[in-house]
Amino acid sequence: MILDGKKVANLRNEQLKAKIKTNNLKLTTAIILVGDNPASLSYVNGKLRACKKVGIEARLIKLDESITKDELTNEINKLNEDKSVDGILLQLPLPNHLVGKHFINLINPKKDIDGFTTINQGKLFQEIETIPPATPQGIMNLIDHYNINLEGMDVLVIGRSQIVGLPVAKMILDRNATVTVCHLKSKDWQIYSKNADLIVVAAGHPKLLTADLVKEGVIVVDVGINRVDGKIVGDVDFEAVAKKAKYISPVPKGIGPMTINALLENVYKVKMEGN
Ligand code: NAD
Repeated sequence: MILDGKKVANLRNEQLKAKIKTNNLKLTTAIILVGDNPASLSYVNGKLRACKKVGIEARLIKLDESITKDELTNEINKLNEDKSVDGILLQLPLPNHLVGKHFINLINPKKDIDGFTTINQGKLFQEIETIPPATPQGIMNLIDHYNINLEGMDVLVIGRSQIVGLPVAKMILDRNATVTVCHLKSKDWQIYSKNADLIVVAAGHPKLLTADLVKEGVIVVDVGINRVDGKIVGDVDFEAVAKKAKYISPVPKGIGPMTINALLENVYKVKMEGN
């Protein structure tokens, strides 16, 4: 069965839109884009469109590639202080002379709709209510929509990045699953994948997970986004793995739309919690 991220995200977006409208809320988010990286531009445009669809005002702050550290600091500070701005998102990666982690941490954690600041990530790891990182939250929302009970499951997370692999492993662990995290330097992670009940793949490597590496009835969540021959594909050999899987999320129309939905829900969350 397909874990239909597009359908579930649309449903949740409609619910969010209704909540915003019924409560007559004015929600505003600022998206900072530094430079002209085409992939970033396309992600930002997707986020702007999504905001508009549910009734969130999105301001694009487009800054020149050559912006200095002080100038970017000032831009973030202005948005932190601006009472009319509920959420702030700094699109990564930044140009080489600017360190992403540093600038992310200048964002007021209460406006950090990506959930990337040290404060919000720390809260996640201390099991304190937080603004969750969007992709891991989107994965959990999809799993929950299909009533998949993770308790006691053997789960393999492939990838340990701070924005996907690590936080999603923590969220799954919090549901009482047994979680193994593997990465580029892991030896023989295939031993784990063949036994896993659920595999989350977030590596950025097309066809990394093939049918011979999974068991019958496995659940697969494919986070990867790769461009191959002009087409977007995930990290999973979808056709072959789907034949063995009980549930599998496709790429596109899987975790991508769930991520955007989680981001929009975070804007609502920061508004409701005040800043
Ligand atoms: P990253 O490059 O920061 O991390 C990749 C992780 O995968 C690393 O821990 C690395 O060690 C591991 N890895 C890479 N190749 C591997 C291999 N052959 N075997 C085992 N482990 C391997 O990437 P990221 O930001 O976590 O993103 C991962 C993928 O998910 C990318 O394709 C990215 O585009 C995609 N992504 C999608 C969404 C979405 O909304 N759908 C959001 C974020 C990231």
